[in-house]
Amino acid sequence: MTSTSSPTPDGGRQKMTLTTQIMLAMGLGIIVGVIFNMIGSEFINTHIVGGLFAMIGKMFVNALKMLVVPLVFFSLICGVTGIGDIRVLGRVGGKSFGLYMLTTAVAIAVAIVIASLIGPGKGFDMAGIDTSGISGKQAPSVWDVFAGIVPTNPVAAFANGEMLQIIFYTIILGIAVLMLGHESKGFVKAAEYMNEVMMKIVAIVMAFAPIGVFALIAKTFTEQGIDLFLPVLAYVLTLVFALLLHLFGTLMLFLKMFSGLNPITFMKKIRPAQVFAFSTASSNATIPVTLRCVTERMGAKNSVASFCVPFGATINMDGTAIMQGVATVFLANVYGIDLGLGGYLTVIAMAVLASIGTAGVPGVGLVMLTMVLSQVGLPIEGIALILGVDRLMDMIRTAVNITGDAVVTTIVAKTEGKLDLDVFNDPMAGSVQDSLDINEAAEAELAGYANPR
Ligand code: ASP
Repeated sequence: MTSTSSPTPDGGRQKMTLTTQIMLAMGLGIIVGVIFNMIGSEFINTHIVGGLFAMIGKMFVNALKMLVVPLVFFSLICGVTGIGDIRVLGRVGGKSFGLYMLTTAVAIAVAIVIASLIGPGKGFDMAGIDTSGISGKQAPSVWDVFAGIVPTNPVAAFANGEMLQIIFYTIILGIAVLMLGHESKGFVKAAEYMNEVMMKIVAIVMAFAPIGVFALIAKTFTEQGIDLFLPVLAYVLTLVFALLLHLFGTLMLFLKMFSGLNPITFMKKIRPAQVFAFSTASSNATIPVTLRCVTERMGAKNSVASFCVPFGATINMDGTAIMQGVATVFLANVYGIDLGLGGYLTVIAMAVLASIGTAGVPGVGLVMLTMVLSQVGLPIEGIALILGVDRLMDMIRTAVNITGDAVVTTIVAKTEGKLDLDVFNDPMAGSVQDSLDINEAAEAELAGYANPR
């Protein structure tokens, strides 16, 4: 992958960073998507957007997903053996779980307050809205969710990407490895080596991000016309406002309060992961990039990050909870139902619990919303109203979700003394270009080793 160059004031040529390239690709994707949407050509929609762009986007998301399970496995093995003390492991687990629940609960509570103040959905006319085909999901009981953390078959857990089961099994494996002591040296070295290899593969996949992101964004914006947004504009604006408030306000306040770290530096360093989350609408698929941002760009040690990031991608969904809060208030207003304080407290509890058992994949927030609505007796058919705009909202809330994961990870790392401040404060730390460089001498030596003549 060649990088684009731009002249510097002193006449030299400076490489455009990958983050800048990805941001530009995103902007270009939005412009192309909006233009294609306005043109509305059958040929473009079927062959270029539905064909070429869809193919590139899918390949890119598949490539990210391809990384998740082996990366989480190897980095978590290294993480557990790196911590070396089971009590510390328990403390990291407890702290991150507590913070994840706290941020989600605060997120939805603030969302409900904001939505109640703004009052979207009042006087909405339901006539002409097709509500057929919407059916509710039953919330899994908390007990079932916890029981399901223990896999009956670890191979099936890995094959199906069951994140909580994978985390559980890998931690047990890491503990057993630790218990075997010096006999495990070879295994630990191999896992460390595989972890390095996986991080290289992440860098390779990320190098294709500008193309992948462009295709994904252009496709979404071609398919999403502005006409979908107009009827529910009040809902969209309230939701986006609440999401941004959480992103730049609450989360940054948490970061500053609990870790003392600079929120502006944090925001700059997490940007690549946010763009990936926005483009893929999946916290899970973004795990490799989030992990890379918090370790190589922010200096969190792998021993904390390898656990906190995949754990957060599964159980922590601040943005999704905010959507549920705003959507509940919106639908209550549309149907003229007063939920009262008890109703809203139920919504908060349900959203926090539902986020634990559901993985970070596109659209899961809506499924969780059906559980929340049925719990407080709101008609589930109301979801038809917001279905059309949900893809774009999903993209934004997923970016908020992974930012929450990264905030908690850095707080835990900092409070455990596992954050390298020099890395955090170095603006160029963890640039992908550097890690893609191939050491030619070493490569030649390896080739000679592999094919002795
Ligand atoms: N797409 C979100 C995520 O992956 C979940 C959701 O809100 O639908 O985090």
